[in-house]
Order: sequence, then structure tokens, then C-alpha cells
Amino acid sequence: MSKVNWSFYDDNGFTRIINVNGTMTGLGASMAVKEAINAAAEIMPHFVNMHELQQKASLVIQDLTGAEAGFIAASASAGISMSIAACITKTNVGLIEKLPQIDGQKNRVAVQMGHLCNYGASIEQAITLTGAEVSIIGQSTQVLDHQLEFAIEDGVIAALYVVSHHVVEYGQIPLKRFCEISHQANIPVIVDAASEYDLEKFLNDGADIVIYSGHKFLSGPTSGIVAGNKQLVKAAYMQNWGIARGMKIGKESIYGVMAALTAWKTRDHKAIRQQEKAALTLWLKACNGIKGIEATLNPDVTHNPLDRLKIQVDAAALGASAGAIALALSSYEPKIIARDHEVELGYIQLDPCNLDHGHAEIVSEALTNIFKQAHKGNLNEPNITDTRNAAIHAYLNWASD
Ligand SMILES: *Cc1c(COP(=O)(O)O)cnc(C)c1O
Repeated sequence: MSKVNWSFYDDNGFTRIINVNGTMTGLGASMAVKEAINAAAEIMPHFVNMHELQQKASLVIQDLTGAEAGFIAASASAGISMSIAACITKTNVGLIEKLPQIDGQKNRVAVQMGHLCNYGASIEQAITLTGAEVSIIGQSTQVLDHQLEFAIEDGVIAALYVVSHHVVEYGQIPLKRFCEISHQANIPVIVDAASEYDLEKFLNDGADIVIYSGHKFLSGPTSGIVAGNKQLVKAAYMQNWGIARGMKIGKESIYGVMAALTAWKTRDHKAIRQQEKAALTLWLKACNGIKGIEATLNPDVTHNPLDRLKIQVDAAALGASAGAIALALSSYEPKIIARDHEVELGYIQLDPCNLDHGHAEIVSEALTNIFKQAHKGNLNEPNITDTRNAAIHAYLNWASD
């Protein structure tokens, strides 16, 4: 079995971590590809005209997305704010300088209620910090066409659509229809596709702007990719002269994510799927025949080409709940962070996309050990309220002795 080299963690006094949750801001997003790392290092000691650099980035983005233009923002979240701001100001520099004050300007952004998600902060705030207001359409699990049409008549300047496992999966207006309705009223559609693989689909479905994270599947430095209609993308880029100054991206991240995008084109996606499959098979084996555990391969809900292992727990038969398994994994040495957003539903998931050499084997051993402890009744049950509020506790605990 291959040994894991933990020296980076140990030398710095960092907690050893294995990430089987997915790309997460709180864990440093993803493992950057070497092309991105090398590019970021290469540009660091040089001056460069930033408009020229972003112009080159546009060419790379155009090539991969089919968009008319694109630029690199500090994050997808920044890209959302800049795109919304673009719909308010267009390329009017006077207005750009005034945001978030927009007296007299139309400022409403139509969003389906089920799309008002939190990805580490609320998407509503990414919209409203431009000075815009959110116009909520429909209810959580049902949105009808006329509700979008009706909202659009009331001072709407943009319609925002979110593609994500963070949003409600049914009862929403499909993107193509959402674009048709919006475009009938000349309202641009902005798609948040931060964590999606497909770099062409959403523009093809009618989006005027699509936004991706550079540090999720693309494995680049922390960044956001804004692509789409040239005039609108330009207006979004121009927000750097205004509210996006505090969302500044450095040359190293721009050049780094350009390299990640280029590498994405030639990446051996099939070989990566094979590696992921090997990890999933190993974990499936560790779950096989365990009383109280039913493990299955679970395809990604937004159709990214990947499976996760879904571990459904019969708490009475196992002697521990799904939450207790997640807690035991995160208390393991090394710390194993599982995908536990839905533990109330009696399952956790293991994501194979961010594994380093030897990680899969450690996770498999951990599962075997933890299931044994569960059968003996030795696992602690988490306080579900604490689990739900853990993200806030982590902030409050920062820099406290
Ligand atoms: C991760 C994510 C974001 C935020 O992306 P950042 O690049 O980290 O700002 C926004 N929307 C969705 C749907 C996400 O998954």
C-alpha cells in the first residue's frame, strides 16, 4: 500500500486532512494541477499589462466555452456580483462609480425561490451588494412560467439561474424556458454554474453570461470565470473600476487559471474517472456485508460526470447514525471530511474527486474500523444542532484561545 507523505502538514503544524466531501472553500477548494501551479509561479516576478493579460484570458475562455468574451474574476461569487452590476450600469462609467447607490435606476433581479442558496455565503447577498434587489419568483418547490413573466414586468434588469446541488432539484423552470421568457422581455440571463463540468451547455441553452469557479473541477487557483455576451461581459469587467476593486484578482491567479483551462482541454478525463472508480470500488468493498449499511454508487445530481458513494445507514441495525459515522470520520487520524449535508436523511456520501496517493486506502480502513466500533455501540452521536451550525462556530472559534 502506498504511504502518504504528510510532511507539509506536519512541518506547518496543520491538521492532516483527507477530503471526501468535494471541492470546498473551507478546505482550500481543490488540488491545483501542476500546469496552474507552474504558470502562477512563472508570472509572479514580472510586470504585465493587466488588460492585455485579461484579453489573453478572454481568448482561452472563448475557446473553451464558445463565448464571445470572458474574463477572470476573484471568485464565482465575485463574478455573480460583477455580472449583476453590469446589468444595472452597462458600460456607463458614471453609474459604475456610483454603485451600490442606484437612485432612480431599475435594480431588480429575478431569482427562483428554490435557487436562493448558500455556498459559504448567501447568493442573495452577492446580488444585493451591488445595490440590486432580489425579486423572488414562485415558492421553494414550484415555479410557474407566469410568475417569471409577471416579475419581469416589475423593474427587473437581470434574471439569475443557479445550476447546483445546493438548489431545489425539481419544480423549477428549466434553463432553456427561463431564457426564452427572459429574452422575450429583453432581460439578460446570468447562470451561476460555479461547480459544473460542462463549459458550453449553459451558453448553448441561452445564457447571456455563465460563471464558473476556477478552483473547483478546473483545479486552478482561486478565481471565477465570467463568459458570455461581449457587451455584457465588458460591463462586468468594468466593475473593477468600482465595487469589484475589493474583489481584485492577481496576475498569478489569472495566468494560473488560464493554464488550468488549457490543461482541462487535454486532461485525460477517462483516466481520472478510472481512478475515481477504483476508490469507489474499494470503499464499496469496505461497506459490503456490514449489518446496517447499504452502499450504492450515486450519480451527480447536476449531471457532472462523476459518481459518489452513498452510504445509507440503518441506525438501529448499525448501532450508530449517519451523523455519528461522519463525526467518527472527522475525528479520525487523519481527519476524513465526508459529504454530510444530508445526514438527517440517514446517509453520508464519499466523493472521490480530491484524493492524493494513499488516501483511498486510509478511508477504506477507517470505514472498517468505524463500522466495528458502531456495532459495539462505541460511537458518539453528534448533536444535530451543533452539526448544522458548525460553520458559524468555526468562525467564532477562530483566534479564540
Ligand atoms: C462554489 C459555488 C459558488 C461560489 O464559488 P466561489 O468561486 O467559491 O466564489 C457559487 N455558486 C455555486 C452554485 C457554488 O457551488
